[in-house]
Order: sequence, then C-alpha cells, then structure tokens
Amino acid sequence: MGTFKHGIHPPEKKEISGDKKIRRFPFSPYLIILLSQHIGRPAKPIVKEGQEVVRGQKIAEADGFVSVPMHSPATGVIKKVGTSLDFDGKMTPSIVIEPYPGSEQSVQTGQDVNVDALKPEEIVKAVQEMGMVGLGGAAFPTHVKFSPPKDKPIRTLIINGAECEPYLTSDYRVMLEQAKRILRGTKIVLKALKAEEAIIGIEDNKKDAAQVLKDTIAIDDSAVNFIKVELLKTKYPQGAEKMLTKALVNKEIPSGGLPADIGVIVSNIATVSEIGELMPKGQGLIERVVTLSGKGIDNPGNYLVPLGTPLEFVLEQAGINDKARQIIFGGPMMGKSAAYLEVPITKGTSGIVVLSEDEVIPRNQKVYPCIRCGECVNVCPLYLNPSRLGILARNDEYDKMAEEFNLNDCFECGSCAYVCPSNIPLTQYFRIAKKVLREGRKRKESMVGTPEA
Ligand code: SF4
Ligand code: SF4
Repeated sequence: MGTFKHGIHPPEKKEISGDKKIRRFPFSPYLIILLSQHIGRPAKPIVKEGQEVVRGQKIAEADGFVSVPMHSPATGVIKKVGTSLDFDGKMTPSIVIEPYPGSEQSVQTGQDVNVDALKPEEIVKAVQEMGMVGLGGAAFPTHVKFSPPKDKPIRTLIINGAECEPYLTSDYRVMLEQAKRILRGTKIVLKALKAEEAIIGIEDNKKDAAQVLKDTIAIDDSAVNFIKVELLKTKYPQGAEKMLTKALVNKEIPSGGLPADIGVIVSNIATVSEIGELMPKGQGLIERVVTLSGKGIDNPGNYLVPLGTPLEFVLEQAGINDKARQIIFGGPMMGKSAAYLEVPITKGTSGIVVLSEDEVIPRNQKVYPCIRCGECVNVCPLYLNPSRLGILARNDEYDKMAEEFNLNDCFECGSCAYVCPSNIPLTQYFRIAKKVLREGRKRKESMVGTPEA
C-alpha cells in the first residue's frame, strides 16, 4: 500500500460527520461573494446595484488568465458592489446578493455543452468559465493547473481522495455519493491534459468509498483500462501533493518544482466531481460541499452550502453550542482560526470545525526552549529541519532560512509543531517568515525603476 516516510497520526475524528449524507443548506438572507477568493487577480464585477440576477448567472468576469469568474448562487437582487471583510480582516472587493424568498435551489442557469466535441484547449477554457478552483482548500485556478508548459507533457492525472485532515469528511461523502460524476469528470480532465492514465488515491480509512469508485469504473469499458483506484496508508499529511505523488507513482517532485515537472497533475476529487457535473450543463460553480464538525455544534454533517453564506448564518444553522471555543476554517492541522463571523464561505472552504475546550490545542500555552529531541525532524515529510528553522526564525534570520534550509519547501502541514514537547509554534514561525520574505520581495520589486533622490 502506498505511503511516504515520516508524518503523524492525529486522532481522525471522522466519525462525527462521516456517516451524514450531503444535505442542502438554506439560503441566508444575504450572500457575500468575495471577488478574490482564489489565487490570482480578483474577478471584475459585471453587475450593478439593484440589478436582478438568476441563480447561476455570471456576475463577475475573470481578469486575465490567472483569475476566474463568479456566478450568482441565488436568484435575487444585487444589494452592493463594493468591499467586504475577508478572512484576514481586510476589506476586499465583493458583490452582496439578497436572494428572493423561496428562491429555488435545484434550478441553475446554463447551456448544455457537448463535451465530447471539445478539444483539450476548449475544455481548459470551459474550466475557467465555470469559475473552478481547487476545492481541496488551495483555491488555485484549476484551468491554470491544467495548462502545463508545452515541454512538460502530462502522463498521469492523480486525483486526491486522501482527505487526511482530521474531522473533514466532505470528500468522503462526495466519493460515496457522486461516483458517476467523478468518473465523468476524470475522463474530461484526462482529455484536457492529454494524459494516459488517472489514479485516484484514497486513504485506507475510506475503503468503502474506494470500493464504490472501483465498482463504478469496472462497469465502464471506456474507463476500466486507464482509471484506477489505489489505497494509501492513513497518515497525515498523505493528501499533500508531494506525498501523494511519492505514494502513487514513486517519484519525487523536485525542491521548488511542480508535479508537472515529473509528468503529473494532481487534482482534488471534489474538483473533478464538479467538472463532471457542471461542464456538460454549461454551469458555473455556485455551491460546494462543506463539512461542519466538532463538539461545538449540535448538527454536524456535510452540507451543500451556497457560496457567500456568512459564517454567522452557518453556525446558527449548525447549532453552535456553549461548548464552542474555537472556530476553524478547514481542518485543525492546516486550517485557520476564524476571527470574524461576517466572513463568507468561499470556493476553498472544505470544512468548518468548531472545537470544544477539550478538543482545542491550548493557545498561549507556555513555550519552552528546544530540547533538541529531534521529534520534529522525525516527522517532517519533507526532511526539513524544523528545529533549526525555528531557531533561525526566532533570530529573524529569514533569508538564511530560505537560502540554506529550504524554508519555501515547507507547506505548513503542522506536523512538527504537533509533536514538539516544548510547544514551540514552529508552523506559525514559518508562516510569518515566508510572509516577511514575500513582502520584502514585493517592496524591492516596487522600488525597481524608482529614480534616486
Ligand atoms: S510544517 Fe513544514 S517544517 Fe513542519 S513538518 Fe510540515 S513541512 Fe515540515
Ligand atoms: S520537537 Fe521541539 S523541542 Fe524537539 S527538537 Fe524539535 S523544536 Fe526542539
């Protein structure tokens, strides 16, 4: 069974929501569509305040290649074209929609597309038109990922069904309930990439989902020889691109490189499922499956939530209770604490976990000096030296971290901090260091060409 070296085994907590079928979530009184909920340039609004829109209508267009359009999740009226609070507490361009009471959720505007007749480049363009981004949380525009350089042919499409983050079960439910969509989407993406094979990687704590997919593929003659399902050892962070690639095709992505460098593209299973569902109907992405979990809510489960639904409304519907102590967007390992209840669900929101006192990793706990136990080194899946990086971070030696200790390879999986007996917030250090270096670079770039005084 495929796996990678190092990694950790945090409590899985999948039982809280894993047996709950995907259910539709009601419309909130207003929806906040952030125009910058993907990596790249924000979308440009094409609607005005007071304008009526129908569910699925495009309301903002892509601003260039590394950008995606937005579509209205509801039939209603545009209340505001302006700015709203984003996850980091900054005001960011947005469109606010007031859904009409009784707005129908099962209807969505779109024009049927004969996908079989599309050429690979037309499929990639259609993926952009759908507003598709990586639904695993990264929110990287999918059409950009599907456009590798011409000198890097893709042989293998890896579909990520690992879902290694504790608590999250949205991908698990998608695999159990949307197998045909996944199969359709896989064939579309294979054609877009001109790839030879697809491998769907699933951790062995979801054997039933793997079996459903295997059975669906087995009865399709046009898929059985080039789409396969592989079980992976359940271990965190098995779903990370590098770990998945190593486990499934036994190849290493070079430091600073991309899967395309070794002939691979990795796509999340929910992304592929949405492509399989929406592209033949010519529809845009307007809702997504979100896991609501943790002891801090009374109604955990997996919900099809309209994009733009404010967190406050989600928590109200989920039955936030007195035990709630920390709200996390995403899973507890790589997710981020939510500081504002006004922020909306975006394309990258795979889950909201509301932890109770006994589930929270205590904040502000006393940090002790590094005892050089080596635990962090033993678990880092990228063979970095988190202990050394941590010391450099505390001394503000950020350049050295990047140049000599491969800071930029760290994808902030949190494994090192999780095992550190001295409670050193290593991942936090690395996040700050990378941010400082990024901002320093931007500052330098903006000064290029500035005349000397
Ligand atoms: S957070 Fe970075 S340094 Fe720490 S274990 Fe993960 S990849 Fe390694
Ligand atoms: S796990 Fe913590 S205490 Fe142990 S070597 Fe790493 S940073 Fe130091």
